[in-house]
Amino acid sequence: VRKELLYEGKAKKIYSTELQSEVVVEYKDSLTAFNALKKGSFAGKGALNLRMTALLFEHLSKNGVPTHLIKQLGPTELLVKKVEIIPLEVVVRNVLAGSTAKKFGIEEGQVLAKPLVEFYFKNDALADPFLSDDQALMLGIVKETEIPQLKTMALKVNDVLAKVMNQAGMTLVDFKIEIGREGNRLLLADEISPDCCRLWDKKTGEKMDKDRFRRDLGNVAETYQEVCKRLSEVLK
Ligand code: UDP
Repeated sequence: VRKELLYEGKAKKIYSTELQSEVVVEYKDSLTAFNALKKGSFAGKGALNLRMTALLFEHLSKNGVPTHLIKQLGPTELLVKKVEIIPLEVVVRNVLAGSTAKKFGIEEGQVLAKPLVEFYFKNDALADPFLSDDQALMLGIVKETEIPQLKTMALKVNDVLAKVMNQAGMTLVDFKIEIGREGNRLLLADEISPDCCRLWDKKTGEKMDKDRFRRDLGNVAETYQEVCKRLSEVLK
């Protein structure tokens, strides 16, 4: 199905297909953090992230969240609908962690009374700055009517995902999603994996996500394997 390489990102490659409306996404083994200042990889990482994304996207689509996923083609390849990615990182937080906890001088681990939705401008050169709804409108990134749609979708993803993670023995602390346009429809796109979620083990509190890589906590590959195993059991 693959034709020519359209785009190569930090963790994925995108190829054209015979159809204008579909592309192939190839998951790479690379791992980056801090706007790609820190680089790493491990064998099998692409396949694990793809497996988790496919399981979660299938589950989300059964639960009312439309996604770009069409089908899995191979261990590191997905066939997806071609969408126009909105250049926003849509972040949902259930527990404060990372840079946001630091920003407000709150200790990591503060549970929020209700989920918080935030937008960041997806722009590597600017290091993905936080932006307000009005700033997103000012930049012409989104239409006014899309802002509530994006928030509703993000909160719906949070509801479904938090339940799955809970069943798999993990707390969904926060996550980032990307959303694309297919005509005037919004579809969940990109991926959902430990690369873009914070997951804490419910029993031990251990970090089970990319923070193991960011903070040099060790057992990165083992942790991604464990998350994949747990999700496969819950979603089989
Ligand atoms: N995130 C991501 N890509 C980014 C920024 C954040 O996937 O470019 C994810 C991150 O893994 C976490 C959530 O979004 O699960 C919230 O990240 P935060 O803004 O707290 O970033 P950090 O503390 O890493 O600066």
